[in-house]
Amino acid sequence: MGITILKKKPGYTIALALCIIGALMLLAVIWTMWNDGVFSSPDVPSALSTSLFNTTLGIEPLKLSLIYYLILGFVLLIGGVAILVGRRERVTVVEEVSALLECPFCKNQWRESLSKAHLKSMGYPKVRTLSRRKCTQCAKFMRPKIASTEK
Ligand SMILES: [Zn+2]
Repeated sequence: MGITILKKKPGYTIALALCIIGALMLLAVIWTMWNDGVFSSPDVPSALSTSLFNTTLGIEPLKLSLIYYLILGFVLLIGGVAILVGRRERVTVVEEVSALLECPFCKNQWRESLSKAHLKSMGYPKVRTLSRRKCTQCAKFMRPKIASTEK
């Protein structure tokens, strides 16, 4: 376990813009189809293909069939998402381990997360006792013993 932060690299904004443009294009296609009555048509598949290939979107001279917008929208969206995923860099700041601690007197056991660096600096696994504290169970001052650790 550890804290993972996502570093934003250049290209992030462009990728996000691609995603948004792609999504807007797809929305525009769906919106146009909706206006065409594709979804309320008794024969949805044929109305869908008619709309995709015959309905145009845009302003002259940039008028394209819906199918192009659909494909372009998907390409931009997938491309944007792919860049976003690829650009993320995972950086682990603190590596923590879950340790099972035990009171030497009453054998009460509990879990605590300790940082790996701390365990290493105290000499674990040779040294297995932590600093002195009061046991929550028997109220005695003791040095908790690390029974086991797991990642
Ligand atoms: Zn105790």
